Amino acid sequence: MLRTHTCGELRIKDTGKEVTLCGWLQRARDLGGMTFIDLRDRYGITQLAFNMNTNKTLCTQARELGREYVLQITGKVTERSNKNPKMLTGDIEIIVSEVKVLNKAQTPPFTIEEDTDGGDELRMKYRYLDIRREVVRRNLELRHRMALETRKYLHDQQFIEVETPVLIKSTPEGARDFMVPSRMHAGQFYALPQSPQTFKQLLMVGGLDRYFQIVKCFRDEDLRADRQPEFTQIDCEMSFVTRDDVLETFEGLAKHLFKSVKGVDHVEFNRISYQDAMRFYGTDKPDTRFGMRFEELNELTKDKGFKVFDNAELVVGICTEGCAEYSRKQLDALTEWVQRPQIGAKGLVYVKYNPDGSFKSSVDKFFKQEQLKSWADVFSARPGDLLLILAGDTDATRKALGELRLEMGRRLELRDPDMYACLWVTDFPLLEWDEETQRFYAMHHPFTSPIREDIPLLDKDPGKVRANAYDMVINGVEIGGGSIRIFDRPLQEKMFEVLGFTPKEAQNQFGFLMQAFQFGAPPHGGVAFGFDRWCALFGGSETIRDYIAFPKNNAGRDVMIDSPSPVAPEQLKELHLKLITHNS
Ligand code: ASP
Repeated sequence: MLRTHTCGELRIKDTGKEVTLCGWLQRARDLGGMTFIDLRDRYGITQLAFNMNTNKTLCTQARELGREYVLQITGKVTERSNKNPKMLTGDIEIIVSEVKVLNKAQTPPFTIEEDTDGGDELRMKYRYLDIRREVVRRNLELRHRMALETRKYLHDQQFIEVETPVLIKSTPEGARDFMVPSRMHAGQFYALPQSPQTFKQLLMVGGLDRYFQIVKCFRDEDLRADRQPEFTQIDCEMSFVTRDDVLETFEGLAKHLFKSVKGVDHVEFNRISYQDAMRFYGTDKPDTRFGMRFEELNELTKDKGFKVFDNAELVVGICTEGCAEYSRKQLDALTEWVQRPQIGAKGLVYVKYNPDGSFKSSVDKFFKQEQLKSWADVFSARPGDLLLILAGDTDATRKALGELRLEMGRRLELRDPDMYACLWVTDFPLLEWDEETQRFYAMHHPFTSPIREDIPLLDKDPGKVRANAYDMVINGVEIGGGSIRIFDRPLQEKMFEVLGFTPKEAQNQFGFLMQAFQFGAPPHGGVAFGFDRWCALFGGSETIRDYIAFPKNNAGRDVMIDSPSPVAPEQLKELHLKLITHNS
């Protein structure tokens, strides 16, 4: 090897050793008689020292080296007089006797240090330089540990990792597919998988019993801030299980990852139905690090002459502890906040529970002190608290109050980054009605089983059918989701019918799966986790991009390799494609 040690491992006990290190020149400092260089590799930074008085030639040579030069140096480990407790190698330095330049480097376009002067785009263009920075490297190390521990846990639980194909068949359900034109079959296309869903189910029919895969998935969706067109799932499926078996198995995975990766010993999982999540938190992925649960006030507020409440389908509020002291100005600002188009509330009603036990509200004209007291009692509010109330159509009002709850949680610093609140949300609706296309869509996907007792409703009132589906939510972030699957042909056919497929369409697109169901499919169910997102959550960051070695930008471009990009006319021809431009 070209080195005896790494740049991160030498300590005071190594004093006196003759060592050879390799790495990149992060920074050089000339202090008259001495020159110091920070030499960096993946493992850390070691200080190199050159003395003008004792070795003038070498010191002069060192002064000519540029940033990011790749060096091999030999020298003696020596105790530093000026120790740096912030560095693991901060007690020592190397008195260099020999320097070899392994490769020169152009001056990098941004500083490769903890605090960099490079903007997002620039760092993405030179991602390999960004990866030299400790923060980025640590994120990739975290990702590696997560993958490794996931494999360990699932292997111990008898899961086997199986690769499923990447060139598959396009289906119109779900998001938009990325397509790959076939050269050998003119006019035909492969699609890249949005997930290995049907394959993992076929593996269950194949008797593999427990499958997992850490797998790339592709969705051609309009990009939102934290979306990547390609992302990674921990995809899993199990046979002969009930919903609770699945939940317990993957609670186990989460606990294992918390312990082995984050050093967190104790995490508790709660369960809540979709209906309750919407009712108490206004969202299907509640952040339960704090309470502030919704209370509905329709009964107490109706027929008192306040039109806004009387005309509303729902009157619902939260109690914010200790906020009765909010000033007029603060309350006005909060009202404006809920009226922003993203939140969409018409107005905000407040009730201050003053420290002296009296009440002051924005609806004092309509409601007496005892009435306001009765509202406060619903929340078990105490003097000093502030009630914030919204009214309107049920769904929109819940959603808006859900946003307000998160905002108040943030302002009151209740969303503790060192705390983890884990949750399974269960019993999602099976179907979602789409006004525009006037049809039902599967809320999860068409292979999800309805809850048994709701099956008769499929004919009568499909919108009411609950799915045997579940999401894992941590701190308000949806980490994964799955379901118990349909495993018999008639029910699967029925499901396609409800989704508006003709029998022929269903047969064309999913005939292979329905046929497999006729050859002894076991009952099965599974789940898939957003691996990038889980890494980001553990790393304490909001952006999944930080945990992907070579991510795409917000426009879905890889600015480093410049992709997507045009291809040669011959390539198009081979693929039997013709480019249609706007002016042709
Ligand atoms: N394939 C599903 C998804 O990607 C997850 C599952 O049902 O297992 O959302």
